[in-house]
Amino acid sequence: MIWYPYAQMKHMKTPYEIVDAEGVYLYTRDKKLIDSVSSWWCMVHGYKHPALNEAIVSQTKKFAHVMLGGLTHEPVQKLSQKLQEFLPGDLDYCFFSDSGSVAVEVALKMALQYYMNRNDTRRTTTLALNHAYHGDTFKAMEVGDDEDYHFVLKAYGPSKNVVHIPTKIRALEQAFETHHETLCCFIVEPLLQCAGGMRMYDVAFLKRARELCDQYDVLLIFDEVATGFGRTGNRFAADLVLPDILVLGKALTGGYIGHAVTVANEKVYNGFYDDLPAHALMHGPTYMGNALACTVALKSIELFETQDYMAKIRRIEAISRREMSGITDSRIKDVRIMGGCVCVEVYDPEVLKGYQQFAYDRGVFCRPFLNFMYAMVPYIITEDELVQVFDSMKTWFQR
Ligand SMILES: *Cc1c(COP(=O)(O)O)cnc(C)c1O
Repeated sequence: MIWYPYAQMKHMKTPYEIVDAEGVYLYTRDKKLIDSVSSWWCMVHGYKHPALNEAIVSQTKKFAHVMLGGLTHEPVQKLSQKLQEFLPGDLDYCFFSDSGSVAVEVALKMALQYYMNRNDTRRTTTLALNHAYHGDTFKAMEVGDDEDYHFVLKAYGPSKNVVHIPTKIRALEQAFETHHETLCCFIVEPLLQCAGGMRMYDVAFLKRARELCDQYDVLLIFDEVATGFGRTGNRFAADLVLPDILVLGKALTGGYIGHAVTVANEKVYNGFYDDLPAHALMHGPTYMGNALACTVALKSIELFETQDYMAKIRRIEAISRREMSGITDSRIKDVRIMGGCVCVEVYDPEVLKGYQQFAYDRGVFCRPFLNFMYAMVPYIITEDELVQVFDSMKTWFQR
């Protein structure tokens, strides 16, 4: 028996069974569907990509996995080297793990221990955003704004370790004025809060956050598990504002295998680098640095660089703006577009009931949630395919 995610099993409708997948298409036994959510935003090059397939197969013939405890190997060395070059600034120190949630846990642990290693035991509070989503493990739930996802607030009450603020500069400044002595870090999904409702905000907020973090010696963490690798129309939000710790996941492996990385800058790394064993980072997921994941991630980044993905994403954004301009309906609250993300927010979630099946019948797989109908398509999508996705969304409101 499979226990499916985010579902009341008693009422869950039967999931569509996928028997094959290629490019932007998912295949059921009798239907061909454009995957407009890129399998939870990770499948950026499309399914069954020849180069990614080849990379996995060739590494499988050598070895699929060896642990990083006391051992190392070429795929993980090459990937950390590649990330060091590919990522901005001195984000050079790569801690690998098997999922985005764990990589967020590692980032928060790094931030807390960074100050503990300096005997600064007051800095135990995390600043986070309203509508934040950082994964489903416990600390990630705690820094998340969990009403829609988690019971943790109900179970434990508001956490004394976390302060949540809206994406408003004034609120940010006030939070630093009030809490700066106890803050160890500020964690954000930069520019685009995905699971919290595809909420978009201005880079000026992040710039101000960087200034305040510098002023008060607080670490800035960017959770780019969803936004990284082009989704916002930037390679990384970290190209615009440099965080101290960057978390990547989802598209890191081109959607092939769960893997993530917590990348620290030199300052953070040096906070652990001394003669005391107690100052070491005590973390080590079994599958960290998995050789298949590293090999396919390397190939994925290579495609990203050599196939001019940023141009593909700019084209997706331009087509999105053209196609979605003029969509108005009294049930629609807002239409938001940023890079490779399009979101139609409705006032009442009831309005989206039945849309998944409606889209399915029009050859599009989608997964609206709460008040949000959205598309986060694979970057290799053609114009015609993209128009088909938007036609389905628009037609829903024209019925
Ligand atoms: C998906 C997501 C995570 C969690 O990643 P998993 O691999 O599902 O554990 C964390 N942060 C953000 C912003 C995400 O979108």
